[in-house]
This record gives sequence, C-alpha cells and structure tokens, in this order.
Amino acid sequence: MSSDQNSLPDLALSRRRMLALTGGAAAVAAVSVPALARVAGAAPSTANVPEYSGADDWVSAGSNALGDTRSDVTAVVIHTTQGAYQGAINHMAGENGVAAHYVIRSSDGHMTQMVRENRISWHANSANSYSVGIEHEGWVEEPGFYYTGTMYRESAKLVQHLCSTWNIPQDRDHIIGHNEVEDATHTDPGPGWNWSYFMSLVRGESVSDEPPAPWTAARDTYSTVSPERSNPPQTSRVAQHLLNFRGADLEVDGVFGSVSGAAAREFQEEQGLTVDGVVGPQTFAELIAERRSGSDGHAVRAVQTALNKYGAGLEVDGSFGPVTDTAVKEFQDANDLTVDGIVGAITWRWIV
Ligand SMILES: [Zn+2]
Repeated sequence: MSSDQNSLPDLALSRRRMLALTGGAAAVAAVSVPALARVAGAAPSTANVPEYSGADDWVSAGSNALGDTRSDVTAVVIHTTQGAYQGAINHMAGENGVAAHYVIRSSDGHMTQMVRENRISWHANSANSYSVGIEHEGWVEEPGFYYTGTMYRESAKLVQHLCSTWNIPQDRDHIIGHNEVEDATHTDPGPGWNWSYFMSLVRGESVSDEPPAPWTAARDTYSTVSPERSNPPQTSRVAQHLLNFRGADLEVDGVFGSVSGAAAREFQEEQGLTVDGVVGPQTFAELIAERRSGSDGHAVRAVQTALNKYGAGLEVDGSFGPVTDTAVKEFQDANDLTVDGIVGAITWRWIV
C-alpha cells in the first residue's frame, strides 16, 4: 500500500461521503463543487491527473461503478475490452455500473486512468475489493491482431508500477486474468493472451519485441457475426470480404451492421439458407472457396484477414504469395492440420 495514494482525496469520494453524512440526495445536490473541494482539502485538478506517470490521460469513471476506498491492493486483474479503446472509455465513463482503473490502446499502448488505485470499482466480481483492473483494447477471439508487443510492454510497465506501489508479488497468484477470478463468468483475456511473455516483461526479463503468433488460440469451428450485436472487427471483415467475393459491394470496414446483414440475407436467399443476416457456420461454409498459392482476389483477402486474427501480420492485398503461404503452413502445423498451404474447407473453418 502507499500513504501517498491515500492522501489524495478525490472529488467523487467526497461527494459520496457527503451523501452518507447528510443521508440524502437532496442535501448533496445543494452542495456546490467548490465547497466540496474545500471540504476535501484538495485542489479540484488533482483528481484529474493519472497516478502512474506512464498513463497519458485521465477520464473519470461513472459514479455508479465505484465503491469505497481501501488501504490495500493485493492483485491485478487483466481484462480485454471486447470493443474499441475510445468506446470502452466512453462506456465506463457513463453510468453503466462497470469500470476498470486503467485502459490501454492496442496500436500504441496509449493509456487512460479512470479510477484511483485505492478505490474499489466494478470490474471483476468477487475480486473488486482487492484488485486493480486493467482493460486491454481487443477481442479475445482476435488475439494476434490486438495483443501487440507495444500493448504488452506498456501494460507490463503499469503492472510493475502497481506491484511496487502496493507491494504486490510479481507472480501469477497475484496477477490474474478476469477468467481466473473466483466465480468468473468472463473468458477474458482468453487463450491468446501470452502469460509467459507478459510475465517475463513484468519481471524485466528480455523477450522478443513481438509476442509469438497465438496460432493455437484458434478453434475448429466457424465464428459468427450478426447485425444484431457488436462483433469482432476482423471476423466482420472476413465476412465482408467473402460477401464481396460472392458479388456484394460492401465497404470492408469491420462493422457488420445492417448493410452487411442485408448482403448476407441476399446471399442466403440465393443459396436457400435460413435468411437471417447472421453469418455463422452454415453461411460461412457456403461463402468460402478453396484458395492456395497463386490465388488472388476477395477470398484471399478473407484468408489474410482471418490469419491476422492469430498473429500472421499479413498485408491484406488479396495476393496469395509466399508470405501468405508460409503463414497458412505455420497455422496448419501449430493446429495439427495437414500442412499443405491449401486453404480448403477444414483450414477455413479453423481460421474463421
Ligand atoms: Zn474482463
């Protein structure tokens, strides 16, 4: 623990305490913010400065995601946003009853603090009271695209700060995934989060700039994207590329919404499939076509995008050349598939 953290009162806490003292919302509403700041004995601006020097921004979490302050923190919980960086921040800044302490952007490690470290917030069920939560931009289903070396490094430096500030051991009993919390209902950060790579960074050991490709996070089943919900962006792109391969003219933007759904329904109608706009196992199986070295076009873009979910790092240029061929073979080898570089029905099912 740190007395420094405890000596920094934040405005929201003061407001909450005031609520408890006065016993009613009406009384709180009558107290002006400057008066609260004087009561707290702090300049209002101190609440808006990140505690960790490596954090870039402060955005306050919604008040209904916050609990009491505490004198001790004994664990760090690793999360995945299942959404874009700014969207996750906006969600947690709203009154949605959920907020982690820090959020980190995938592409460059940019970091926002949203909750003081000594304050309980709603991010990990039974672990809320004793842990600090870190949200990582990305999708559990697309680890090789979103879990970048840069994000791992910035997150590890933050964890080092937390471990030294709160005297938390740098081990896996104290640095855990949301999925490892008792009674966990969430799966993040998932099998594609490379714990050994991450913990090596936390311990200051030397590792490669980029983590190894998480090929084995893939599963022997097609994913599903639906216009009725928020979808993993790269899988949405795969569906859009494949619909274009079958004659649609979609902008491949990674947002599988009403326009993509309409194109999917059109394709399903033509094929005599259930017409629901949902691209899952049945529809993907009809959209795909065998692709191999020398192929080109929309379906190859789909192959390249799908492989990038598992860390291939391919340029999505629609040209099935030697680099794509090598990635297909590495993927097949890691997942015990026939290593022939041909993306046929089985490999498609695994990569999508
Ligand atoms: Zn989580």
